[in-house]
Amino acid sequence: MGITRREFIKKSLGIAAVAAIGDLFFDIDKLSAQESMKEIPFSPEEDVLIPSTDVMCVNFCGIRVRRVNGVIRAIYGNPESPYNKGHLCPKGQAGMFHTYNPYRIKRPLKRTNPNKDPREDPKWKEISWEEAFNEIAEKLKDLRNRNPKGLTFHWSHGKYLIQDQFLKAFCKAFGTPNNVHRTTVCEAARHVADELTWGGHGILPDLDYTKYFINMGSNFAEAEQWARWMDRTIMKRIVDDRDMKMVVVEPRLSNAACKANEWIPIRPGKDVVFLLAMAKELIKKGYIDKEFLINYTDAVFLVGEDKKFLRDEKGNPLVWDEKNSKALPYDSAEEIALDKEVQIDGKKYKTAFRIFKEYVLSLKDKEVEDITGVPYSTIKRIAEEFGKNARIGETIEIEGKKLRYRPVAIYTFRGLSAKEYGSQNWRAGLIVNMLVGSLDAVGGLLLNKADPNHKNMKPSKCEYPPNRVDLAESVFYPYATHNVAEQPALTYSEPEKYGLPYKPEMCIFYATNRIMSTSEIEKQIEGFKKVYSVNINVVLDETAQMADIVLPDKTYLEDWHYSPTRETPDSSHKAIRQPIVNAYNLRYGALEILFEIAKRAGFLDEFIEEINKEWKLGGEKKFEKGKMYNSEEAVKILWEAGTGKPFDYAIKNGLIAKKIDVKERYLSNAEKYNGKGKPKMHFYAEQLVFTKEKVFEIMDKNENVKKVFMEWYEENDEKELKKLLEIKFSPLPLKEHAFPTPHRKRNEKEYPFYLITYKRMYRNQTDTHALNPILNEIAHDADTNYVLINTKTAHKLGIKDEDWVYVESKVGKVKGIAKLTEGIRPDTVAISYHYGRFSSAFPDFAKKGTMPNLIIELHPDIISGHNSFNDTKVKIYKT
Ligand code: SF4
Repeated sequence: MGITRREFIKKSLGIAAVAAIGDLFFDIDKLSAQESMKEIPFSPEEDVLIPSTDVMCVNFCGIRVRRVNGVIRAIYGNPESPYNKGHLCPKGQAGMFHTYNPYRIKRPLKRTNPNKDPREDPKWKEISWEEAFNEIAEKLKDLRNRNPKGLTFHWSHGKYLIQDQFLKAFCKAFGTPNNVHRTTVCEAARHVADELTWGGHGILPDLDYTKYFINMGSNFAEAEQWARWMDRTIMKRIVDDRDMKMVVVEPRLSNAACKANEWIPIRPGKDVVFLLAMAKELIKKGYIDKEFLINYTDAVFLVGEDKKFLRDEKGNPLVWDEKNSKALPYDSAEEIALDKEVQIDGKKYKTAFRIFKEYVLSLKDKEVEDITGVPYSTIKRIAEEFGKNARIGETIEIEGKKLRYRPVAIYTFRGLSAKEYGSQNWRAGLIVNMLVGSLDAVGGLLLNKADPNHKNMKPSKCEYPPNRVDLAESVFYPYATHNVAEQPALTYSEPEKYGLPYKPEMCIFYATNRIMSTSEIEKQIEGFKKVYSVNINVVLDETAQMADIVLPDKTYLEDWHYSPTRETPDSSHKAIRQPIVNAYNLRYGALEILFEIAKRAGFLDEFIEEINKEWKLGGEKKFEKGKMYNSEEAVKILWEAGTGKPFDYAIKNGLIAKKIDVKERYLSNAEKYNGKGKPKMHFYAEQLVFTKEKVFEIMDKNENVKKVFMEWYEENDEKELKKLLEIKFSPLPLKEHAFPTPHRKRNEKEYPFYLITYKRMYRNQTDTHALNPILNEIAHDADTNYVLINTKTAHKLGIKDEDWVYVESKVGKVKGIAKLTEGIRPDTVAISYHYGRFSSAFPDFAKKGTMPNLIIELHPDIISGHNSFNDTKVKIYKT
């Protein structure tokens, strides 16, 4: 497969032209032709712009695709899209090479080499669709009769093509709970912290009004979610309006940090202590929104020495009523105390706020400075600027409504949350936002779909034995409501270890490169060797190379999708994707594949029933039992049911937009907690105390549970393990949450450096972008993917710019090229995680660079199941 990038471009353009006039260049699968393949109509004189939605990453920008005589010539941003307003990043513009890619899978493949390893040639044999479908259907039929939970359906980017609802419906109809998405490699810990605190997830800063913005590890100027809205809006606010200050707190001078007013290079993993110290300064200076804390949060509930709320006989938590000098239920109290300690029946009780206040005031300045690596005077100044800009007590009138005005926000993404203590780190961020009352205030942090009855607002059921292969919501990860992507392979290797009551036997992978996108890759490979697997994909990535059968999928420029979209604070929209070309004349897209498999395996009607339930369809606009649907028919139903508009509107415009009004923007979420008769947000997450008790109970009865925790957190002593679990399930964030296992357990001298990973503008995780010639041409470091090392540190180690170095952790070592920079802390090294591919089907140019996930240690966040990407400690030395 030797091919240079320049040859690739020439060849790709050739394919584009040839494929469009009937695929003369590549011999067509005759069977596909017999199965009435569907070509995209075009006129030989056409030059058209077709509206659609991008999915080269998960921002879903609106696009207009220029097709000339059946060939895609350019992709532009759609100015009608309220999200990206015509802007596109390089990935979006280079998207046609995802489709015109000679490394695409063009027909079903079956492996003949039984040795499964992504580095080894599977010796693929081409088979017909008929043969492929029948083999898969037979396997599924048998499994469904014997052991339905033995099937796992893995997806990640796939969720954004045919959507979660179809995939979940397929699993439900089949009878397996095992659908596993990828959020724990991304932002799950942040989501779970939100759910523990206010019962929803999907926060956004109210950037149109924010005046002081602290960004803790959201790399929105490259490839983060909401990137194209955030970078545009933030630069307008900083540069054009000159009305906002942005402080970026992260160890590396990222693109976001480059654009900030101030960059604070914090030590990796120590954000929680930075935030607790900010809280200390805000409390000391009186920058506290008492009304918000009293009206919206449980900061006023009285807490006993058992860490639980004091309750009346009906179970209502009690507050201290200053007027009547007694403990009363919240709704009966007349003058609620926020900062109080009282004796009741000889027992001591403090308000949750008092407990937090005493804790943060006990943190020593020097200690904070030593842990975070940030001068205390800097944290103090930032807290003061934040507090001052919060304008506590002020209101603003917008569209005739008087609203709370707190134009400050602390925001985060993967940088802060991809950690063993990710949930607790972000709980600290939420608490600081609460202290100044910025949640759902104008200019603050906007909440999304707050639900006081969300299951994460309550003690977890802590399932045991676990029901799912990813152990989500079991005793191992009690609040993992976003699946646990890194776990299934480990469970496949040793199901008994986790008490799984059935045998995992088969996987279907859809548009996910699971083995590469988690940590300790070799363990993932070993696990996936144990199961029969089917992979629906566009290229033979590392996970596809381990499959038993591979089915080719259409790309986002070749199929119909009812696309997910990104809301902004003032707009939402619904959108579709439509086929622009069919470069390899593929007969089926992924949704059609699922329908075929379900029909042949005998559960089509159940599948259709579940689809209707997942999409909440009824009446005339629904899927009919017994009927097969192609992707166009499916999208038409969803569009018409979702928008009430004719499908022609979607074809012509690609999307339909809606303005979000003031009520929806500010008064629909936090207000569910405001005042008497309403539940309260969890400033203090008491549910974690009850959950910890359940975890202890299960662990005491099941030796294997204890053993798993001991292995994960490297703790041999049971007493020490319990102390550690107390810390993990603390109802308030603690300084100990800045010390994940590698930071506590590694010898400082042997592993002196912190390793962090990050996203690049020109790649999307471990997706197909390594094969995209345009992105490789324009990325200055596509061939190198440098190991970023601080200049002074490198000099001390005798490492020069562009020297080859080893980066070694407890679990392995990788080789890379050093890039000396002042843009990183002296104690930290950084490697982007999109490179160093090793699929045996990939050309050499796609294999360049270093893959840090090979050496990232796995110590998952027990609360959310998030992978610990930013906790590993390493040594570096010249090769
Ligand atoms: S940000 Fe993502 S969706 Fe938008 S243009 Fe870039 S790759 Fe496409």
